[in-house]
Amino acid sequence: MTDLGAREILERLVAFPTVSRDSNLPLIDWVEAYLAGLGVRATRVPNDDGTKAALFANIGPEVPGGVILSGHTDVVPVDGQAWSSDPFTLSERGGRLYGRGTADMKGFDALMLAAVPLALERGVRRPLQIALSFDEEVGCTGAPAMIDAMAAELPRAAAAIIGEPTMMKAVTGHKGGAGFRTTLRGYEVHSSMLHKGVNAIMAGAKLIEWANAQNAENMAREPGPLAAIFDPPFTTVHVGQISGGTAHNITAGQCRFELDFRCVPGESIEAWRDAYLSRVAALEAEMRAVRPEAGITVERYFTVPALRPEPDGAAERLVRAITGDNGTHVVSYGTEAGLFQERGYSAAVCGPGDIAQAHQPDEYITVDQFRGGEAFLRRVVDHLCED
Ligand SMILES: [Zn+2]
Repeated sequence: MTDLGAREILERLVAFPTVSRDSNLPLIDWVEAYLAGLGVRATRVPNDDGTKAALFANIGPEVPGGVILSGHTDVVPVDGQAWSSDPFTLSERGGRLYGRGTADMKGFDALMLAAVPLALERGVRRPLQIALSFDEEVGCTGAPAMIDAMAAELPRAAAAIIGEPTMMKAVTGHKGGAGFRTTLRGYEVHSSMLHKGVNAIMAGAKLIEWANAQNAENMAREPGPLAAIFDPPFTTVHVGQISGGTAHNITAGQCRFELDFRCVPGESIEAWRDAYLSRVAALEAEMRAVRPEAGITVERYFTVPALRPEPDGAAERLVRAITGDNGTHVVSYGTEAGLFQERGYSAAVCGPGDIAQAHQPDEYITVDQFRGGEAFLRRVVDHLCED
């Protein structure tokens, strides 16, 4: 097992159906055994109920100044998607490697695992540190404890590269995000007497209209220098799903939706949360004035800090030096890079494959991108061999 190439490792990783709702432990067991075969001791960071785990390891000397390679092990579901081949069997067709997670992001995971024997052989002078998280796709909830444990147990790395698919471009900034599950409890009466009840759906519509108003205001405002490089160059508020009510002629007893912010770096997610909660409080007071039983519950279901571009940061410098990419790239989706940065690491996002293929049926990574990723990691190892 220790002489597996990146391609074979990818084949193994894809074969574990690590959809976020399910356990990733069989994959973690496999990785742990693979590393043990190379003489590398890994540390697990389990979730609360022990059904999932993150894993990290230090390869090379236990000294500061290394490089973290970070990826997530979970993938999005394939339910309802039309796949031309089994999503959990790697299959090559026309220069593309198909399979769930090939682009997002088991391709990078496989490459970093394949870089481990290389780092050992080459005798890196500063460590390669690898990190594999879980529950990234459901709001980056697995990584915080993993990064905290790494910060506590490993010598401090100089840079963290998060290998989400960027087509090997150096992505140095992304928006942050936070999601709020909002449940309104109304009061049911016959709709002809709606003034005596509280319609949770119609009340919920006011919060959604608040979101529309924020978007319009944000769009109209002149973007600051940090926001200006994003598309769109402002914080957005979105509701993508809603449910509620039982019949057309009953004031709705319940309404539930998920409202999420995608926040440009430099703006505070907590300030946006406070603004939302104060609108919620005002609405709740209106509802309770009609019926004291009515109310609103808001529960936060994810938080992903933004990645602030670091002028001349170590991660950015390293990734630019290797890829030769000096363009400015920022993305509007969140990654675990912001979590590393929040804990004091210099962080950048760079990995093989195209985000456009992520979450799609027939997800793939091209063989060219996969090889490009392999060459990139070889250069990272070269860098760790330098003084
Ligand atoms: Zn991803």
